[in-house]
Amino acid sequence: MRKKIIAGNWKMNKSFEEGMALVTEIIGMVKDEYQGSAEVVIIPPFIHLNAINRMVAEINNISSGAQNCSNHESGAYTGEISAGMIKSIGAEYVIVGHSERRQYFGEHNDWLAKKIDAVIKNNLTPIYCVGETLDERENNKHFEILKQQISEGIFHLGADEIKKVVIAYEPVWAIGTGKTATTAQAQEVHAYIRTLIATHYNTDIAAAITIQYGGSVKPENAAELFASPDIDGALVGGAALQSRSFVDIIKAMK
Ligand code: PEP
Repeated sequence: MRKKIIAGNWKMNKSFEEGMALVTEIIGMVKDEYQGSAEVVIIPPFIHLNAINRMVAEINNISSGAQNCSNHESGAYTGEISAGMIKSIGAEYVIVGHSERRQYFGEHNDWLAKKIDAVIKNNLTPIYCVGETLDERENNKHFEILKQQISEGIFHLGADEIKKVVIAYEPVWAIGTGKTATTAQAQEVHAYIRTLIATHYNTDIAAAITIQYGGSVKPENAAELFASPDIDGALVGGAALQSRSFVDIIKAMK
């Protein structure tokens, strides 16, 4: 059975002190209130990551991850953080290709394919984000765009490597807007992504890959989304910034 993963992407939010307080609350609440099988991933700003990883390292169902990494191993790349550095502190996941990085930092599929390689080479799990803009959806181009993002970003991987990838479907029009894709819209895309993987690799691999949904996931809509057969968890932004809402989303995954 494939892994269910609820990840909280804090983006560029929380001072160090606020971050420590938030993760302390999340750990306590998950321990006390969650008996399900999903893995919880805390994805804070880089500067908080080492401390947070130490706090979750001994907890079975909670791990940590980074919001981005360099596609280079090391060297004269001022301001960058390598996948090797992330691995060296014990974090386990790296978001690759979040729509904010595609949109504001010009990260394209070919560039992201190199980041995916760096992440996998360092034995970390990439959470590869894909999703269409509102304009692309309204012009019925979403399947075409998703196919391009997936084939150019991850289909160069071999069968053993692709199994290590988590995919997050995040329609850009639903991120931070309060608009969630309907469960039917999300399920349709998740099933489409699984078919793409089955066609390029095989059905066993497609069945084993975790596909998260992201885009204004809240306690109110999480259970319905998670009841869909191809939705294996969530990548959560805004609602991950408060312990109560984040843990209520986690609890919606049985
Ligand atoms: C995200 O940033 O990945 C995200 C899904 O944000 P939000 O939940 O705020 O829409």
